Amino acid sequence: MKKLLFGVFTLGTLIACNSNDSTETLTENTSIASRRSCPSEKLRAERLKSDPKLMAKYIANEEKANKFEQALKLGRINADGSVDIPVVVNVLYRTTSENVSDARIAEQIAVLNADFAGTNTDASKIPTEFSTIKAGDTKVRFHLIKTVRKATTKTSWSTNDAMKKSSTGGIDATSPASYFNLWIVGSMGGVLGYATFPESAGTAVDGVVIAAPYFGKTGATSPFNLGRTATHEVGHYLNLRHIWGDATCGSDLVSDTPTQTSENYGKPTYPLYNTCGGVKRSVMFMNYMDYVDDAAMFMFSAGQKARIQATVASSGPRAGLRVY
Ligand SMILES: [Zn+2]
Repeated sequence: MKKLLFGVFTLGTLIACNSNDSTETLTENTSIASRRSCPSEKLRAERLKSDPKLMAKYIANEEKANKFEQALKLGRINADGSVDIPVVVNVLYRTTSENVSDARIAEQIAVLNADFAGTNTDASKIPTEFSTIKAGDTKVRFHLIKTVRKATTKTSWSTNDAMKKSSTGGIDATSPASYFNLWIVGSMGGVLGYATFPESAGTAVDGVVIAAPYFGKTGATSPFNLGRTATHEVGHYLNLRHIWGDATCGSDLVSDTPTQTSENYGKPTYPLYNTCGGVKRSVMFMNYMDYVDDAAMFMFSAGQKARIQATVASSGPRAGLRVY
């Protein structure tokens, strides 16, 4: 804010100065320049002085620039322009195995970083047919801010968000507008995990929940032991829908993912053809937003990347992740 005030002050000075020499600046001059001169700022000051809407835009732009600069200082924006999402892991455990280790949490964060950067080793399995529309680097990264652990006597949890509130035996989210909160619970029956979408940004229940057996790799339960449950759920958190659109031949609002009849399970064999609306298509069952085993999913599409980017953009619903 200090910088912005200074900017407005500077502008005011410019406007004041300009009133005296504007005639000289704006008069057409046919002589050859003997030294460099540029009237852009003086002209701008006049425009801003006479147009309140332009002035409002100017102030808003400066605020954005200041926020971006602050984000850079805080390490939220990397040198390559990727957004570094700060993660808070909340562990609710009853048994030793449910109290996942710091090493396993680091392992899971590494999986997220590889999958969202497109540097996962199994990206080499992406069929040639889809290699031109793979996301590659989605330009989001993850880093652990802190881990909160709490012992519990609860043997099973449901999707009613009880784990997200201390009043119901859970752990309260840490600054959900600024941090991505991830809860680990012992069991949710047959549910591997669930997420909130960007419309829940900043609310007390915002984040992702994963059952301990499907978190990380070491000690996780096959065939969901490669950390891909988190990749899938974080996909939702960043506004991706299931690739089949949760309906028969539904839409995931992404144009480059082929329409498919329904979800896929296990390890399908490529190519797999589905017919929707009379059109037969080879489907992208190896997408993280399908239901296949961890070892069978290894890509996001370029269209999905666009939605992820829109979500974490400075104008997006999760812009709060960029700045405190
Ligand atoms: Zn899902």
